[in-house]
Amino acid sequence: MSPGNRPKVYQKIWAAAYADNKVECFEVRTMDAENKGPYIPYWHKQYPLGQTLADFLNIDFRSWNEHLDIIQFIVDTINAGDDDESQFLSLFNIATHWLRTCSLVAPMAAAVERLSLCYERGETLSADEVKRHMTYYQALQFRLKTVVRTVFDTDNTNSMTSRERYMEAWREDKTTYPELRFGQIQVQEVWINGIMTCLYDNALDYIGQDLMENGPQEFVTREVVVSEEPSDLVDFMLNRYLDSNLEFRTCKYCGRLFGAKRGSKGEYCDRKIAGSTKTCKQAGSLRLYEQRRMEEPAVKAYKKAYKTHNARIRYGLMTRAEFVKWSAKARLLRDQCLDGKLSLEEFQAWLDHDKL
Ligand SMILES: [Zn+2]
Repeated sequence: MSPGNRPKVYQKIWAAAYADNKVECFEVRTMDAENKGPYIPYWHKQYPLGQTLADFLNIDFRSWNEHLDIIQFIVDTINAGDDDESQFLSLFNIATHWLRTCSLVAPMAAAVERLSLCYERGETLSADEVKRHMTYYQALQFRLKTVVRTVFDTDNTNSMTSRERYMEAWREDKTTYPELRFGQIQVQEVWINGIMTCLYDNALDYIGQDLMENGPQEFVTREVVVSEEPSDLVDFMLNRYLDSNLEFRTCKYCGRLFGAKRGSKGEYCDRKIAGSTKTCKQAGSLRLYEQRRMEEPAVKAYKKAYKTHNARIRYGLMTRAEFVKWSAKARLLRDQCLDGKLSLEEFQAWLDHDKL
């Protein structure tokens, strides 16, 4: 990306989030320079409910601490009067890297971008706010791992809802399970579904995306948390997860955690498989189908006969052309047998009719 491609921030920059029983959305917003509306979303991403928290638990904060050092260095350089656009571009690249890793850190990304506003106002820059956020997120990750194990666990021999589990834990330990407070809530008209292009996106964000992935874009009215503080978004989302009686399961395809309503079915997450347009859920159901199919007696009989007939080519008892013709017919009859149009005995008799 060349300098100058960084989207411009106007007056204010902050984070917002909203959710329903299925999806959660995160935004970084700034004021609209042309006053066409109250704000413009610089960043907007939608995930299945619970995925942001699951991804947050996997963040490796060691590299993020290195980013902090870079931010401090840039802040010092700019304060020393040695400023140019490339430094703000570096800050922007760090912020977007964080957002792509996990949208739950949207307030911290906004705090990085807020530095350019301080600069425009002629103020001395400070990395303190970003550092404070980072400290909060690191402690949060540690705490949330416990919360997921105890409140959002998959122990369904216990009939309590996730909210009841949280309340019970809160009575014992108010540090790990604090009261959930989330600052300012506004009722707003927002987007869900479809694909929304934002100023933060680059072409890479669209590769492999189906334009109608979750159905067409819709405008809905939702309670939205709007804040510069990380804890507001986190507590708001945790409260949503409790409202939806969520639990966190391990995906049987990729091994990562995902949110699902207690008592619902589903062993696979909705994440895209790397290098594929399929999600774990799509690949998983295909795999289950294949597994069940392999158990079918007609498929087993077909495979056994396939092997013996294939061996006949090696022994010169059958030409390859004859084998290809045989196997096409065998597959046709196998599928008829699977569809119930041919009995297993009839199919087996056909497979045996040329037995040597
Ligand atoms: Zn998965």
